[in-house]
Amino acid sequence: MKKQEIYYCPICGYELEDYFGSGELCPCCFREAGYDDEIYYSELETKDLLKQNIYKKLDISEVIKIIPDYEIKKNLEEDVPEKMIWAYLRAVWIKGGSYYTWDIIKNIDDDDYKDPKVYDVVDEPDWTKEKAYLQLKRIGIDARKFIKSIWGEESELYKEAIEIMK
Ligand SMILES: [Zn+2]
Repeated sequence: MKKQEIYYCPICGYELEDYFGSGELCPCCFREAGYDDEIYYSELETKDLLKQNIYKKLDISEVIKIIPDYEIKKNLEEDVPEKMIWAYLRAVWIKGGSYYTWDIIKNIDDDDYKDPKVYDVVDEPDWTKEKAYLQLKRIGIDARKFIKSIWGEESELYKEAIEIMK
């Protein structure tokens, strides 16, 4: 028998039913391949990636840590490279609290958020930041290093990550 493939979200490391890119919407970081991660430089600040009541916008100083050529290219209709946009969306997710986002969205009284594709996702009632940070390891991301690279060693987020992961 063929071994069942395991798929992880390339943004947050959550285990998905199918590969990211199959139309799958990740219930954890709530990002959709081919929509949220295909973005021109010129769209980064304008496209509705931030659904303000769920995510926290990155400051420009944070953006350029992830997308170093952003200032030069910000007016171009050129795709932000995949790995950079995944890191950007990961940073937005972490800055917002690394929630299992579906838990928040299902309680929002706005049908725009309630995409039918996620109706049968599992609930994660015991979600913790520790789970969030540990699952990043599945995609080769050390949450501490990632956080340090954007927010620095003195940041509360970094100090908290060190506590969580020790
Ligand atoms: Zn995800």
